Amino acid sequence: MAVATDTYTEKTDEQKAITEMVRQFADNEIIPVAEEYDSEDKFPEPIVEQMKELGLFGVTIPEEHGGMGLDLTTYAMIVEELSRGWISISGVVNTHFIGSYLLMKFGTDEQKDHFLPRMATGEIRAAFSLSEPEVGSDVQGIKSTAKRVAEDEWEISGQKMWVTNGLLSGVVFVLVKTDPKADPPYKGMTCFICEKEPGAAEVPGLRIPPKIRKMGYKGVESTELVFDGFKVADDRVLGGPEGIGQGFVQMMDALEVGRVNVAARGVGVAQRALELALRYSQQRKAFGKPIAQHQAITFKLAEMGTRLEAARLLTLKAARMKDAGERSDLEAGMAKLFASEAARANAEDALRIHGGYGYSKEYEIERIYRDAPLLLIGEGTSEIQKMVIGKKLLERNPI
Ligand SMILES: Cc1cc2nc3c(=O)[nH]c(=O)nc-3n(C[C@H](O)[C@H](O)[C@H](O)COP(=O)(O)OP(=O)(O)OC[C@H]3O[C@@H](n4cnc5c(N)ncnc54)[C@H](O)[C@@H]3O)c2cc1C
Repeated sequence: MAVATDTYTEKTDEQKAITEMVRQFADNEIIPVAEEYDSEDKFPEPIVEQMKELGLFGVTIPEEHGGMGLDLTTYAMIVEELSRGWISISGVVNTHFIGSYLLMKFGTDEQKDHFLPRMATGEIRAAFSLSEPEVGSDVQGIKSTAKRVAEDEWEISGQKMWVTNGLLSGVVFVLVKTDPKADPPYKGMTCFICEKEPGAAEVPGLRIPPKIRKMGYKGVESTELVFDGFKVADDRVLGGPEGIGQGFVQMMDALEVGRVNVAARGVGVAQRALELALRYSQQRKAFGKPIAQHQAITFKLAEMGTRLEAARLLTLKAARMKDAGERSDLEAGMAKLFASEAARANAEDALRIHGGYGYSKEYEIERIYRDAPLLLIGEGTSEIQKMVIGKKLLERNPI
């Protein structure tokens, strides 16, 4: 299918309706209370309940499994709006989206039937877990293992780190080694679908220590998962028997779409920072005129607006290419790199424009300034994106 390169930002009627609905939801239900949840680091349960009612946990899940069956582009537009409201809200759906993607792309029919309908409604929410205390970027260095202990059963042991939605999720997609001697290591990795009781800090074979205290990205919990002989049935290997040894490849595939998702979150943050800067700079006066009229500030606004537009275009281009079935690894990396850096830069510029008030908890930009850097780290740091982008450029352009 051809990709219309001149219309990346154009929306279908359905996309217009749904993004407008989510924008109103963010304006009415998220933005007014985000500060309160952030300051208490409290999970935004009432907002999540409303998101369930709006069907936002099933956006990309096929209709036959109870979802909306929408494409990645529409999903990215929705995520932008949620993240514009508060990045933590997009964090609640982010790992869920990756879990749904893993099931839709690699799951057996039984796994899809078992999980997707309840995931589409948000009855169970998903997390994914690659990182460990000593390993983040270098995923092949993970140490957690799963051992087959009976014909139809495995036991997982090892420590996982930084699991977003680690406590309240009902299902976690966990990457472990099933063949620690494999060379290269990635060939010995398998993804297990681990079901657990949402909110239970201790179940047989799994302990979840208290949530990690963070600079920003509050409300949504990030936790360790300490596995010690956690039992998983053989039919919970993602993809069934053929999934053994495929975990790394499956996870990397999911992270590629995840990068579009993180890029969309960056666009939402960059958008909100610009809105706040535009408003404040026209209200605040210094040296006899609104600060927006001072050229140094006007230029900052210009840079912020340009960054935002470029970030949005890169993100929608990567999403549309993926939807059209085209190779988009390079584009997803570029979108994630640029949009996350744009979010951080816009947050900082907006904070500067707010002067002393930007440093006050009375103003939304103080929270955004603490939230934005997460995007530089999650799902591959900026350095890792540059490694991916450089490698793909060289692959596509051999001499
Ligand atoms: C709030 C939060 C939520 C998260 N949620 C999840 C989650 O749900 N699931 C999950 O599995 N993980 C999650 N993570 C983990 C995240 O994916 C990792 O933190 C990230 O991949 C970086 O890994 P690291 O922290 O181990 O840093 P390291 O890999 O130790 O990197 C440290 C620094 O070295 C740089 N670096 C590393 N290798 C290279 C290289 N080859 N060349 C140049 N520079 C390099 C990095 O860019 C970085 O600047 C989360 C992290 C945070 C902070």
